[in-house]
Amino acid sequence: MFDLDNTLADTAHRQRFLERKPRDWDAFFAAAPQDPPIAEGIALARRSAEECEVVYLTGRPERCRRDTLDWLAAQGLPEGRVYMRRDNDRRPARRTKLETLRVLARTRDIRVLVDDDELVCEDAERAGFTVVRARWTAQSAALKVAQEREGRT
Ligand SMILES: [Mg+2]
Repeated sequence: MFDLDNTLADTAHRQRFLERKPRDWDAFFAAAPQDPPIAEGIALARRSAEECEVVYLTGRPERCRRDTLDWLAAQGLPEGRVYMRRDNDRRPARRTKLETLRVLARTRDIRVLVDDDELVCEDAERAGFTVVRARWTAQSAALKVAQEREGRT
């Protein structure tokens, strides 16, 4: 299971939309199609696809689905289901992602979660999942707050 933002997709160019007040969520998500791919993450996803099914678990809301599917295809990433946040679900990423992991784990063997969000990784490990921390981009303070306190992505 692969996270998208800052695991496979580099969001640095659109972070500025979250650093202003009020945060401009529409602009932040509208710019996602321009995210550069992150080579380390993409390589790991491709290697993983040789051994198992690859799926995507993102805090992005459902309304970004079309753009997200187009972006994944444009990077040549393995085809796989994309699990997204419901449009009005404002719970922290650690809650929404763990919920999805647990539901999937009832019927599937989850080999590994790859995610850059330390809190998500900690909770997933605590719940017994194997985790790879995507540490290949600089942390964004604004995005972290958005994920954990505002439940927006
Ligand atoms: Mg992320």
